[in-house]
Amino acid sequence: MGPTKADILAKEFDIRTYGDLLHYFPFRIVDRSHVSTIDNFNGDEPYLVFRGRISDLHTVTSGRSTRLEASFTDGTGMMVLVWFQGLKWIKESLKPGTIYNVMGKPTLFGTTLQMVHPDLEASTLYDERPTHAFLPVYRTTEKAKNRGLGTKAIARITSTLMQHVPQRLPETLPGALLQKYHLMDRSTALRYMHYPNTMQEWQRALLREKFEELFYHQLEYQYSRTARRRHSVGRVFGIVGSRFSNFYNNYLPFPLTGAQKRVIKEIRADMRSGRQMNRLLQGDVGSGKTLVALLTILIALDNDCQACLMAPTEILATQHFANFQKLLAEQGIVVELLVGSLRASQKKKIKQRLAAGEIDILIGTHALIEPDVQFGRLGYVVIDEQHRFGVEQRSKLWGKSDIPPHILVMTATPIPRTLAMTLYADLDCSIIDELPPGRQPVITTHGTDAKRALLFQFMRKEIAKGRQIYVVYPLIKESEKMDLKDLMDGYESISRSFPQPEYQLSIVHGQMPADAKAYEMDRFKRGETNIMVSTTVIEVGVDVPNATVMVIENAERFGLSQLHQLRGRVGRGGGQSYCILMTKDDLSHTSQQRIQTMCSTTDGFAIAEADLRLRGPGDLQGLQQSGMLDLRVADLVDDEPLVCTTRDEVHDLLERDPDLQLPENNILRQHILNNNHPQWDKIS
Ligand code: ADP
Ligand code: MG
Repeated sequence: MGPTKADILAKEFDIRTYGDLLHYFPFRIVDRSHVSTIDNFNGDEPYLVFRGRISDLHTVTSGRSTRLEASFTDGTGMMVLVWFQGLKWIKESLKPGTIYNVMGKPTLFGTTLQMVHPDLEASTLYDERPTHAFLPVYRTTEKAKNRGLGTKAIARITSTLMQHVPQRLPETLPGALLQKYHLMDRSTALRYMHYPNTMQEWQRALLREKFEELFYHQLEYQYSRTARRRHSVGRVFGIVGSRFSNFYNNYLPFPLTGAQKRVIKEIRADMRSGRQMNRLLQGDVGSGKTLVALLTILIALDNDCQACLMAPTEILATQHFANFQKLLAEQGIVVELLVGSLRASQKKKIKQRLAAGEIDILIGTHALIEPDVQFGRLGYVVIDEQHRFGVEQRSKLWGKSDIPPHILVMTATPIPRTLAMTLYADLDCSIIDELPPGRQPVITTHGTDAKRALLFQFMRKEIAKGRQIYVVYPLIKESEKMDLKDLMDGYESISRSFPQPEYQLSIVHGQMPADAKAYEMDRFKRGETNIMVSTTVIEVGVDVPNATVMVIENAERFGLSQLHQLRGRVGRGGGQSYCILMTKDDLSHTSQQRIQTMCSTTDGFAIAEADLRLRGPGDLQGLQQSGMLDLRVADLVDDEPLVCTTRDEVHDLLERDPDLQLPENNILRQHILNNNHPQWDKIS
């Protein structure tokens, strides 16, 4: 291959060696031995191959867009082929009258059968090589295609490669596993991933590759966790002292739930172990994570350490601060708040007192990770609502102490099981799976503009009962003027329907100064206003038990986990709570499914699973940047059983052989030594 093509392969696909190319798997194998006929198409089949002739190639212009259309017939019926891109090239290269294999997913458009951007090839091309009845389809890019590296060209290269690959490549999985799970050996699997002789062979090759990928992913993470557990030094919090006991016996606002008690015990065990704790605390919205944070922070104080609590927004940090002060002030525990909006002189003073060890608990936002924030003796870090913080931000907190502090990461976005297993294979995990007693599930309904009068009527009724209401507008980017206009229009319309002095409204959005926000939040919290109109700044953690109605405007624009978070703002007091999802009339299929999911369940884990299914793991909030999900062949949704299997296998293996010293695990040890992933250090 010439240097130009080699360069494209490297830049577009990261392919630099034979090995890279060998692992550049097709995303689909087309069974060309099965040619379908148009008259047999039943309207709902995935990817099909037809064989026939093209006629009547012409461009169609509608509005500002031009498309290319061609008629295609295989003798049993007609189909329209459509292209929106690369028109010129396609038009010139297609030869009417020639027999083509046309591959793709046909769809019914009215009564016409059509196929958009089909894969086309002159039928003779592959027929020269009858052994390749199963055709690999590779992912390619526009740029590569333009330089002659479309899927067919890549197939030609891999086909050549196959002739040079040695019959026996070194095996990468232990023989015992191959036997136990009847997995294909590596050499055969790599070959069949590209050029199988039957679809079954491809399936078996795929299984082997998925297994290997997930197995090694688990091995890397679990190995690092095991190693950390055995080798890392942590502060030993040997005692539960007077601060914890005094609070527990005299100031605890309510009895702990069983789940809260269990989780505190788990954290306590870590803190006492001599190892640094890295624990993820999952618990649905409203499950009482804050109290767990507070109690475990008291254990840190009992052991002569400082603690800090980091929250993603100022509102939330301020609320935690008020809460902690209220609960702890009488006991002479010094709590301070450090947020961006403080005056420089105030910040400076707090930092001085912090370094001098005069502050016991520091609560704040990102401001806490600035380099000049130095603790005298930091022993424990709690990070609330973790999905907002990147791994890197977290890692900055580690460095603030000579002995790394214990870390508790709390998340209110339940993570689907498979994802948790994969993403957090290196963190220990605690789950609060029980809500405080007396909570009634929030009743959720779907409304559109046509029913707005009814909605307002309902809101008046609830206010008459003394309840409070949130009305939330999406703000995708805090700077988007459009969104802000939505909010302002909405606010005006609500003001007209809920006039003063009978009704009092609050409004909060991201463009307001912090003290104005805090003032409005405060009025709402004290019950002085009936309705809080806001953007998603209230999304996270705000706690007003008397608020029982959550109206979400343009709900179709929110993701599932966000909707769930928002709904979690109500249903916190004793009263029956409601969530009304307002949307426009015509919704896309996925929007509909999201709304339906919300109306049918309040279980955060079920919602997280649905979210994963609807959006795929790459889109889950906060996970995109994590870089830990770059699976090439396995799929976290479809391959859940395999995720479990490999996790358990790795677990058992590390129990038997934690250092991978046994001869049969030699390949695995080599792999670990050769793959020194930098992100491990940050997480652990
Ligand atoms: P989250 O887990 O979403 O952070 P919070 O810690 O804000 O939840 O708690 C939600 C609400 O439940 C708060 O009003 C809190 O005071 C209350 N709460 C927490 N624990 C208990 C409990 N054991 N019994 C009753 N109410 C509780
Ligand atoms: Mg919370």
